[in-house]
Amino acid sequence: MGKPTGFMEFPRLNEAYLPVAERLKNYHEFVQTLTDEQAKVQGARCMDCGIPFCNNGCPINNIIPDWNDLVYRGDWKTALDVLHSTNNFPEFTGRICPAPCEAACTLNIDQAAVGIKSIEHAIIDKAWENGWVVPQPAAVKTGKKVAVVGGGPAGLAAAQQLARAGHAVVVFEKNDRVGGLLRYGIPDFKFEKSHIDRRMEQMRAEGVEFRVNQYVGETVSADSLKAEFDAIVLTGGAEQPRDLPVLGRELQGVHFAMEFLTGQNKEVAGDGKNPIRADGKHVVVIGGGDTGSDCVGTSNRHGAAAITQFEVMPRPPELENGPLTWPNWPLKLRTSSSHDEGCARDWSVTTKEFIGENGKLTALKAARVEWKDGKLSEVPGSEFIVKADLVFLAMGFVSPIQKVLDAFGVEKDARSNARATTEGDACYRTSVAKVFAAGDIRRGQSLVVWAIREGRQAARAVDEYLMGSSVLPR
Ligand SMILES: Cc1cc2nc3c(=O)[nH]c(=O)nc-3n(C[C@H](O)[C@H](O)[C@H](O)COP(=O)(O)OP(=O)(O)OC[C@H]3O[C@@H](n4cnc5c(N)ncnc54)[C@H](O)[C@@H]3O)c2cc1C
Ligand code: SF4
Repeated sequence: MGKPTGFMEFPRLNEAYLPVAERLKNYHEFVQTLTDEQAKVQGARCMDCGIPFCNNGCPINNIIPDWNDLVYRGDWKTALDVLHSTNNFPEFTGRICPAPCEAACTLNIDQAAVGIKSIEHAIIDKAWENGWVVPQPAAVKTGKKVAVVGGGPAGLAAAQQLARAGHAVVVFEKNDRVGGLLRYGIPDFKFEKSHIDRRMEQMRAEGVEFRVNQYVGETVSADSLKAEFDAIVLTGGAEQPRDLPVLGRELQGVHFAMEFLTGQNKEVAGDGKNPIRADGKHVVVIGGGDTGSDCVGTSNRHGAAAITQFEVMPRPPELENGPLTWPNWPLKLRTSSSHDEGCARDWSVTTKEFIGENGKLTALKAARVEWKDGKLSEVPGSEFIVKADLVFLAMGFVSPIQKVLDAFGVEKDARSNARATTEGDACYRTSVAKVFAAGDIRRGQSLVVWAIREGRQAARAVDEYLMGSSVLPR
């Protein structure tokens, strides 16, 4: 530990955001990385705990106390090595991870965790600026070929690890660009797409081949992959959105969130205007999670007249009950930067009907709900009408798209995910010989950091399967 008294001397400093009026003018990132000096002071707050709960709270087990100390001492290059030893893409997580490590940090017991994510962000941005992130091609090639089906964070992490172990890796992606939900879900103002492009360059130099517009199970057969490759890793995500089949669902103006978000990311990438426009409209977002919040941020950038976000669950408490929840992920009110940009939020609300005129949405009929006898019930007489020209359904994702799973004939779990365990000798293996599964396609819609973990672990499992043993990290 660099400074034993650091946590008592220095307060937590959050990364600054550009002012709302300025950031709403465009789709650029607006979070300002800590300066070297600020990061150093924040690193000094780490207590180097005997049991570092942060390390356990992090799904990829980042070795957080070590890089906190290295940043405090100004040894940024070693900090980068430590960071990369557990995480292929810290610039992804340093931007968009909800940071379960900070929830688990011992200093979070009184609400002022070490700013772990901002230090990670500072290390990796400095590394890219200084040209320290370079390809690491394998010294020896194994002659084995692996297909990775799906170019999201799970697929990218698996592909990079496998290429570094010496295998010839091809990533098959059904979209026109690689990146999964990082590319066509998460908005540019949270995560600019150049971060994916430069990692792809690094991976190409390490021998990974990317084949886009290749829909496995549709334009590319499962049998052709089985014939050409020694192992196949399914990392196709969980893209089937939850629908709301109430009266009026067919009205013009009711969309799945992803139709809007994908259209916007394509517009920012230069592919032409988003076909769904929120300018001057009354927007209602149904669903209180990340996807809903991203619709709020995007609608504000379009210049929506009013934005309301409904959540069916009750309003959570402002602050967590630390002694009760720590070091676990707590239930508390989460207000995103998009909410701060302007949005009315309401909880315990269910949508009963979409109302329209001449086939076009004009309003939404909702009602209040409450917990009764262990289930949510409508409060009698609580119906109300909200003006709405646009509704975005952001109520989560029910499962992977089944096509690729059916094409390979893999067994599924009760939620229609690919069935594969994460423990023991058969970890990440599906029921079909030489076919593995990782990321959201296996665990259901989750987080980027979990996708990276599963991609890395699946790569080790594949390497062991192909070579009998593996030096890739667990
Ligand atoms: C709007 C939105 C915002 C989010 N925000 C956050 C956030 O802020 N922080 C966070 O940690 N997580 C966030 N998430 C969740 C996170 O993006 C996912 O958990 C993560 O991307 C999953 O990674 P994955 O690689 O398993 O799947 P995906 O990212 O879904 O990638 C799967 C890829 O496989 C491709 N594919 C699918 N089937 C085939 C096939 N048959 N052939 C070829 N290719 C195929 C898809 O086109 C896609 O590119 C968000 C999700 C959404 C929808
Ligand atoms: S739990 Fe917090 S204070 Fe303890 S080692 Fe981790 S980051 Fe440092």
